[in-house]
Amino acid sequence: MQSTTIFKSATKISIIIVVMMVGLGAMQKKVSASSPINVPNLVAGITVHKSLSPEDVAYLENTLQLLHDQLPEWSQYVEEAKPFTLIVNTREGDQGREAIAICCDENGNGTITFGHHLGQSIDANTAEAQQVMFIGTLIHELTHVRDQREKRFTTKTNRKSCVAAEKSGLEQQLAVKRALTSVNMNDVFRQALEEQIVSEAHALNSRELWDFYCGAFEN
Ligand SMILES: [Zn+2]
Repeated sequence: MQSTTIFKSATKISIIIVVMMVGLGAMQKKVSASSPINVPNLVAGITVHKSLSPEDVAYLENTLQLLHDQLPEWSQYVEEAKPFTLIVNTREGDQGREAIAICCDENGNGTITFGHHLGQSIDANTAEAQQVMFIGTLIHELTHVRDQREKRFTTKTNRKSCVAAEKSGLEQQLAVKRALTSVNMNDVFRQALEEQIVSEAHALNSRELWDFYCGAFEN
């Protein structure tokens, strides 16, 4: 008698479990049917350091989404630079640094440290100018990560090697901004974009810029 009872309740339990699983399956189906298929997780492969605020993370996500939707080749460029870590350290900003990149740690991870919270550069005065600048800086620093991972420009020992490394970053920074001109944006965005392109294209050929980046090297 005893054993029959146990058997019965065990059967009951397993029936309940099966029903629950079927129920869950139906729920999952419902969820995936109502959300877009193959939504990529754009932040996957990026380690977000605790120094980033929830606003920083949202800013990063929006920017990655913009690149994904509008400039897929540059979204791919970001993908290829993964894995990397993002840090915010305002002490670097206090010393005049927009951002710094280093690659790679023992896990092959690159690290980019921003000198300010994302979208809060002291060199841009509108939200649109901030957005343009952030995209440019992100691509610039990711270029350093990619270069260093591929063992390009790893020795900044004199002015020539310093210029070569920085030029690589600055050229991609300018290239992504030129690509952004094809995106349909408001006038403030377009104006900020044009201003930054003109000044950076000029700076690339100016001695002043190279003195700023590589002035520490005598020759
Ligand atoms: Zn650089």
